Amino acid sequence: MSGVGALLVISGPSGAGKSSLIRELLKQIPNAAFSISTTTRQKREDEVDGVNYYFTDKESFQKEIDEGAFLEWANVHGNFYGTSLRQIEKLLNDGKLVILDIDVQGYMLLREKLSRYITSVFLTTKSREDLKTRLLLRQSDSQEVIEKRLKNAATEMAYIKEYRYLVINDDFKTALAQMLNIARAALNKRALTDTDKFTKTWVES
Ligand code: 5GP
Repeated sequence: MSGVGALLVISGPSGAGKSSLIRELLKQIPNAAFSISTTTRQKREDEVDGVNYYFTDKESFQKEIDEGAFLEWANVHGNFYGTSLRQIEKLLNDGKLVILDIDVQGYMLLREKLSRYITSVFLTTKSREDLKTRLLLRQSDSQEVIEKRLKNAATEMAYIKEYRYLVINDDFKTALAQMLNIARAALNKRALTDTDKFTKTWVES
């Protein structure tokens, strides 16, 4: 991939506030675009197909895996989620700051392939109790799903060290300000530039 864009990977337990923060980032950063994942999960009431996700069934998802359509994919809480290779290629070539809401497994896979483009953030709550309260308040998941998400959260927390930045979403405004700082810096990542070429031209100019 030879684009000039950058990737902002945001991971963290479900319910930590990723979606709300991402919505704000997309509003406030003109050059930002969201990587719309494909999933086999049931659509929630407030979600729109083609905006939040591309909702699909297991069979079609498997077909896309076989066709090599995904840059990465993972099974999270029993559902499949995948990032479209073609979409990322296009957005990077368009020079976008691409925001990805993916889990820790997806991030590890993506980092193998596109590390120079990636700025990574782990977003979480200040405690497990706080996460539980948020999941209950959201009222979009059953008790069983909430339990699954809480259990998975503990596993995900073990990956914090793999991320460049840590944002604790206790106060939304503070977390947003921190995310905006990180997002704005992501496009200036040194590794995005072919510095050998740049330095050569610079010396000769
Ligand atoms: P939710 O069902 O709450 O929308 O998302 C559940 C988890 O799946 C979240 O941790 C989210 O980051 C992750 N996720 C969403 N899209 C993708 C994707 O394309 N790839 C991977 N690996 N994880 C994803």
